[in-house]
Amino acid sequence: MTATDDRPELHVIDIFMMSIKCGNCDGYQTIVKFRKGGEKNAYIYECENETCDPNVTRTIVEVPSHLDNSTRRAEELPYYQSEGAGELPE
Ligand SMILES: [Zn+2]
Repeated sequence: MTATDDRPELHVIDIFMMSIKCGNCDGYQTIVKFRKGGEKNAYIYECENETCDPNVTRTIVEVPSHLDNSTRRAEELPYYQSEGAGELPE
């Protein structure tokens, strides 16, 4: 029995249906990294402009992996490297 069995209104989360907007420059951030985790997957977004320092405005969206409907598409994106290379330190 999963956590969602008694919550029919909870379906899945499609990260690609969301837009991540920066509160600093008011622009949309671009997904630059995807990290598959055990309980949570992380999607990392950064501003792609000269206004924002990504180290300040970087956004990390965490999705519970059992609700995450986006991993296959995320793995098809060119920035995604599986098996170690490009892994972020925990
Ligand atoms: Zn920004």
